[in-house]
Amino acid sequence: MQKKEPDQIPLIDGHARLDELTDLTEALREAKTGGVRGIIAVGMNVDSNRRLLQIAQANPGYVYPALGYHPWEMKEEEVEANLSFMRDHVKEGIAIGEVGLDYKIKVKKDLQWKVFEEILDIALEFDKPVIIHCRFSHRRALEMAKEREIKRAVFHWYSGPADLLDKILSTGYFISATPALAYSPPHREAIQRAPIERILLETDTPVSYQGREARPKDVRVSLEETAKLKRLEPSLVAMQTTANASQFFQIRFRKN
Ligand SMILES: [Zn+2]
Repeated sequence: MQKKEPDQIPLIDGHARLDELTDLTEALREAKTGGVRGIIAVGMNVDSNRRLLQIAQANPGYVYPALGYHPWEMKEEEVEANLSFMRDHVKEGIAIGEVGLDYKIKVKKDLQWKVFEEILDIALEFDKPVIIHCRFSHRRALEMAKEREIKRAVFHWYSGPADLLDKILSTGYFISATPALAYSPPHREAIQRAPIERILLETDTPVSYQGREARPKDVRVSLEETAKLKRLEPSLVAMQTTANASQFFQIRFRKN
C-alpha cells in the first residue's frame, strides 16, 4: 500500500465554534484541502445555535450541528428561552454541546447544576451524545451524567485529575484532544493515560493557542501531538479517532 502524505489522512474536528469565525468560508476551504472530512459545530446559546444550524444546512454532510448552552452564557432570565430552543431544535443536531459546569466563573453553582440537569434530561430523552465542558467541576459533571445513565459523553479538552479520568473511561465515556497538547502538561497526561479507542480529536476553534487562533484544519496539530505522545503512526491515530467519532456521533463521514 502506498504511504499517504500526512495532509491526506482523513480527520474529524470534533469540536469547533464555527459561528464565531469571521473567515468561515476560507476556514472550511482550508479544512477540506487539509483532509478534514467532517466538523462538529458546537453551540453556546440561542444565537449561536441558530447560526450554526444555518451553517450546517449550507454545508450538508460536512458540518454537523450540536446544540448547546455553555455555562459562561448562563443568565437566570435567559435560561428558559435557551432550554426551549434546545428542546425545539434538538432533532436537527447530532449531539448536545457544549454544555457543562465551570467553577471558575461567577455564575452560581446551583444555577449551573439546575441547567445542566435539564440539559442532560433532553439528551436522554432524544438519545443524543453530550459534549461536556468542565473546569474544576469534573467530579460533579461525571456524577450527574452517570446518575442519569447518559450513554455517550465526551469530556472535551480533558485536563482534570487522573483518578477521575479513570472513572470517566470506566463509565464508557470519551475525552478529546486539542492543539494545547503541544504545551499543556495536564492535558498531555490525560491523553497519554487514555486508550486511543476513547479519544476524539478537536480544535475548539477559534480558541487561541499560545497566541494563534485555531481553525478546523489545526485538528492536524491535535493528531500529530497525540501520535507523538502515544508513539503511534499518525495515520493509525487518524483512522482510529475518525472511527471513534463515527461511533460516538453515529455518523458516517464522507470518504473524500
Ligand atoms: Zn469548552
